[in-house]
Amino acid sequence: MSEQPTPITCRDSTWLVSCARDGALTPAEAGQLAAHLAGCAACRVASRQFAQLFAQLDTLLAREDPSA
Ligand SMILES: [Zn+2]
Repeated sequence: MSEQPTPITCRDSTWLVSCARDGALTPAEAGQLAAHLAGCAACRVASRQFAQLFAQLDTLLAREDPSA
């Protein structure tokens, strides 16, 4: 298996970042995302902002629903 990951678009990358959040990526998808982020500064920034946003959401949701 020496295949290069299939190039993906910025739009795909954003989608995969949100999927990765749920741990839903296949190894192939994770490879595609990593390869895209390695070459795309805009998506690196976006993925970092996603992570911060999700962390804030987690905090909010935890506060709303202490039983979760
Ligand atoms: Zn990109």
